[in-house]
Amino acid sequence: MKYNTKEYDYLVVGAGPFGATFAYEAAKRGKKVLIIEKRDHVAGNLYTKKNAGINVHVYGAHIFHTDNKEVWDYVNEFAEFNGYINQVVADYNGELYNLPFNMNTFYQMWGVKTPVEAQAKIEEQRAAAGIVGEPRNLEEQAISLIGTDIYEKLIKGYTEKQWGRKATELPSFIIRRLPTRFTFDNNYFNHRYQGVPVDGYTEIFDRMLDSENIDIMLNTDFLTDKNVFLEEFPKVVYTGMIDAFFDYSHGELEYRSVRFESERYESDNVQGNAVINYTDAETPYTRVMEWRHFDNQSDAGVSILTKEYPQDWDRSKEAYYPVNDERNSKVFESYSQEISKFPNVIFGGRLGNYKYYDMDQTFAAALEAVKKEFNN
Ligand SMILES: Cc1cc2nc3c(=O)[nH]c(=O)nc-3n(C[C@H](O)[C@H](O)[C@H](O)COP(=O)(O)OP(=O)(O)OC[C@H]3O[C@@H](n4cnc5c(N)ncnc54)[C@H](O)[C@@H]3O)c2cc1C
Repeated sequence: MKYNTKEYDYLVVGAGPFGATFAYEAAKRGKKVLIIEKRDHVAGNLYTKKNAGINVHVYGAHIFHTDNKEVWDYVNEFAEFNGYINQVVADYNGELYNLPFNMNTFYQMWGVKTPVEAQAKIEEQRAAAGIVGEPRNLEEQAISLIGTDIYEKLIKGYTEKQWGRKATELPSFIIRRLPTRFTFDNNYFNHRYQGVPVDGYTEIFDRMLDSENIDIMLNTDFLTDKNVFLEEFPKVVYTGMIDAFFDYSHGELEYRSVRFESERYESDNVQGNAVINYTDAETPYTRVMEWRHFDNQSDAGVSILTKEYPQDWDRSKEAYYPVNDERNSKVFESYSQEISKFPNVIFGGRLGNYKYYDMDQTFAAALEAVKKEFNN
């Protein structure tokens, strides 16, 4: 090893938002931290890279949105955020609709112009579907919330592609609520604070980790030398996969994965919006991002577009979305029981907790772990 392990108070596994926040806060308190990261870069899934001068989010579009002022102020210490507001357009076999479901969508779908007309239409469709009692699956749940037309055109195909299963085979809890508004407001999120960093997310991490108390080893997988690392370091913060930490002794946790395909266009504006969702079942991708619209960049004559293809996950692929069904919840529970055997390891982040966390939740969880560790 390049570094003398005896120098460090903490080994942090993973340089994503959880690991980086913990490392930054520990370093601020005078602790020495070594970060190991298996990729060749920091920033985890928030990693952004310039392509033709445009910030491309390498692991999928990341829009920061939160009501948590403490977290918003915190990330703004490390980067300037622009005022990007996510306004998604859906393409269903060439028909265009605004998302999330709002008065624009209802007008485009049915020609209705007032909230009362829209509510009546949804009610009529719910009643006609005749779903009684508890919805038995995602299809019934969606129809009982929003009616048949919106389900068929804007939910069914997209959801089936995303999860790789029929909507009738998916549990209803995936859709607990549907964001529905009876105003002409296309803002995808309800949160008070929203934006993307003007110079990309990677800058946040470069700033956080620029400390004489922090060393970083890239291209280093904790799992290849797990026992050595656990012996050599007094404390470990682990943000990798929890089942892998325990050598899959209770079975493998399942994920959905995503494949990204980027293309360069000699044009300033190809699709006219940052995100277009393809909601039919036949188009193999779910979304197309045109990155320059996240930054409102001026004319460059070039645009980069990325298509997002959902795919089944196996260990050779990036794990993106946990599949929190009954089986996986039980497996995760078995691993959680084992955590107490490793009192010197803090398990955190989306892979360590097998939970989908938005970025603000990840930063908040890391700050919470810091408070617990340092009692302040
Ligand atoms: C497609 C997609 C889009 C998203 N869009 C949004 C969005 O718009 N807004 C939002 O708020 N959130 C979004 N998120 C969620 C966001 O990505 C997460 O909140 C965030 O990445 C969680 O941070 P983390 O530190 O837990 O994990 P990560 O960011 O995944 O970081 C973990 C790091 O640990 C490293 N690592 C893992 N195992 C090992 C090991 N054994 N050894 C060494 N290193 C290891 C990994 O390489 C990785 O760099 C999105 C997620 C996905 C999948």
